[in-house]
Amino acid sequence: MLTGKVALVTGASRGIGKEIALTLAANGATVIVNYNGSKERADEVVKEIEAAGGTAEAIQCNVAEFQASEEMVKNVLTKYKKVDILVNNAGITRDGLLMRMSEEDYDAVLDTNLKGTFNMIRHLSRSFLKQRSGKIINLSSVSGVMGNAGQANYSASKAGVIGLTKSVARELASRGVCVNAIAPGFIDTEMTQAMPEEAQNGLKQMIPLGRMGEAAEVAKLVLFLAGNDSNYITGQVISIDGGMTM
Ligand code: NAP
Repeated sequence: MLTGKVALVTGASRGIGKEIALTLAANGATVIVNYNGSKERADEVVKEIEAAGGTAEAIQCNVAEFQASEEMVKNVLTKYKKVDILVNNAGITRDGLLMRMSEEDYDAVLDTNLKGTFNMIRHLSRSFLKQRSGKIINLSSVSGVMGNAGQANYSASKAGVIGLTKSVARELASRGVCVNAIAPGFIDTEMTQAMPEEAQNGLKQMIPLGRMGEAAEVAKLVLFLAGNDSNYITGQVISIDGGMTM
């Protein structure tokens, strides 16, 4: 159980982040439901958590912005005194072949997925070091492990998340803070529903287990990495992809 723990989940208004927020709250954590644009949906997540007897608050912040994310972290630490679990889940795609990829689409994806993860860890690192415990869980992707045609920006950002995870894990290990990455395969959310049907079918054929994953399945892995049962695991990239990368 995570009773007494405070968890901050970025990009928790829908998809995988929402399931992570619901799961951590159902297991006793107080959850900060971060979102960027989807206020109503984030409020609904909070309502769902409260209806189930949990505690949560929605906070708007574009994690790609260094100062805005610092402000969010400051406000959370002032109100809740600590963050035990940081889940860097906020992410976007701007797919396209490299030859046609705009600078804007490259930068937007790197800014949210990689710099956003850096921003959050950077602003919370002092607090994690002081409390000498904590769990940081970063959402990477099968694309960051294997690469994916049409996702040069996204793959680069998610491979960057792996390097960031391992370096930070080394820096924080002596203070008992565990830092791991999760590399989901093809999970059924709005992000993947936005892909052309042809691309979806092609991807499905690459999954040995023969189906897409569910956000709730990723959330259960996050729950494990957030709790004490994983205290001897750090600096790892854990795949949850139906066997795509075996
Ligand atoms: P999704 O359904 O598109 O949801 C993305 C979430 O991120 C939303 O809550 C969105 O909130 C938030 N977000 C986007 N930009 C943000 C920003 N700048 N600041 C704060 N929040 C922001 O995506 P998903 O499929 O659940 O994916 C979640 C994570 O898992 C991402 O990092 C993704 O790369 C990774 N992943 C997904 C898959 C998959 O198959 N679905 C596979 C591998 C990895 P707003 O709507 O409020 O902007």
